[in-house]
Amino acid sequence: MADSEKQFDVAVIGAGPAGMMAAIAAAEAGSRVAVLEKNSRPGIKLLLTGNGRCNFTNAQPDLKKLVAAYGVSGPFLFNAFSRFDFKNAIDFFEKMGIKTKAEDKQRMFPRSDEAKDILDALVAKMDGLGIVVKYGATVKSLVRDGRLVKEIILEIGKIFAKNVIIATGGKSYGVTGSTGDGYFLAEMLGHRIAKPVPSLVPIKIAESWVKDLQGVSVERAGVSIVKNGKKGNMKTGAVLFTHFGLSGPLILDLSGLVGKELAGGKISLSINFLPDLNFEELERKLIKDFQNNGSKGLKNCLAGSLPRKIWFQILALAEVDPEKHANGITREERRRIIARIADFPAAVFGLLGFEEAIITAGGVNPKEIDGKTMRSKIIDNLFFAGEIIDVHGPTGGYNLQQCWSTGYVAGKSAAENS
Ligand SMILES: Cc1cc2nc3c(=O)[nH]c(=O)nc-3n(C[C@H](O)[C@H](O)[C@H](O)COP(=O)(O)OP(=O)(O)OC[C@H]3O[C@@H](n4cnc5c(N)ncnc54)[C@H](O)[C@@H]3O)c2cc1C
Repeated sequence: MADSEKQFDVAVIGAGPAGMMAAIAAAEAGSRVAVLEKNSRPGIKLLLTGNGRCNFTNAQPDLKKLVAAYGVSGPFLFNAFSRFDFKNAIDFFEKMGIKTKAEDKQRMFPRSDEAKDILDALVAKMDGLGIVVKYGATVKSLVRDGRLVKEIILEIGKIFAKNVIIATGGKSYGVTGSTGDGYFLAEMLGHRIAKPVPSLVPIKIAESWVKDLQGVSVERAGVSIVKNGKKGNMKTGAVLFTHFGLSGPLILDLSGLVGKELAGGKISLSINFLPDLNFEELERKLIKDFQNNGSKGLKNCLAGSLPRKIWFQILALAEVDPEKHANGITREERRRIIARIADFPAAVFGLLGFEEAIITAGGVNPKEIDGKTMRSKIIDNLFFAGEIIDVHGPTGGYNLQQCWSTGYVAGKSAAENS
């Protein structure tokens, strides 16, 4: 490697969304930038986002609400959002020729439904700015000299840069390259790491019926956590049944709480398949539906309201024969069915691990990072961006927006420090 290929104003470790945005922001500010990526290509996790469609931001216009979505550490992001928010993210990609669209709850996607378009735009922008991207470049350690990083040690060779941005992500979906290396690198330089734990993760269910429902999804279900016979608040959203249990946005968002409750003892979930109807409304709906389908088997009822496989499971749990004629249902049977539609029990067996977690909670303590610049409070030429920082949001585009915002600020600040 020639000397000119080893000396940079800014070296970014990791070509994920946060690292690419940081590199772009630094290069736009005039810095000579290198991105060091251990994989042979960039943004492997980015391609998986939103089921391959990339929910790239959440258009929550209320800054206070946006910050609140990230929990107790949310206020750390306030400055970064003030400098680069969802509008900037949309604008950034639209200027690169990507048309965007909003879906449920302000979730933003490329209109093409292709995560690849988002990745291609970032890569094209990096190319256009002359950013040097080194693939197969695994950073092994960072050499510290007082309050500065002096050298970046790769598996083979060294790189020198006036500033270093760590954007190595978390340690979930390790096959994508996010294997938690950044925690080790940050710790090496004196940072404290909050224990990484899988977050936004599917839930394993004990009952065997889950296998029968595999692949079924419900756009709007209600789910409550039940502990010691007490039902908690119901949350609503989309639920997906899988071969091991439950997934989908609502379940992923509940998984943090489920994990905490599970640590204190056995819990189950109560699923309400028609959460917008109270008991009386549900009873009226069933009476009408049973009347309309009088001579038909019960199995043909509620066709437009519930997926067929779920309806069968409800009837099985309510111990009502699906072959029975709808007009032959007793009041007692109807009430048993209603009870199961509104309270379908699922015993929690556990959570899936890092391999299936959408994000890793934990990471570099935001108290040790200056929120205005993303600069380390311990090392003067070190910056952080993305999931490595211990600030995470729910599903809905919040986590990628965190990457764009912290990446932008880290890149600009590192350039100013060059
Ligand atoms: C299945 C799935 C779906 C998701 N869907 C969404 C969604 O729709 N919307 C949303 O907002 N969020 C979503 N997320 C979360 C989102 O993908 C992450 O928050 C985001 O990718 C984090 O970006 P990052 O740049 O911080 O890290 P990463 O994307 O993890 O990138 C880190 C990069 O650093 C590299 N690296 C690691 N260690 C080293 C090293 N030692 N040397 C060199 N390079 C290294 C890795 O190879 C990787 O390329 C999803 C996540 C998953 C797993």
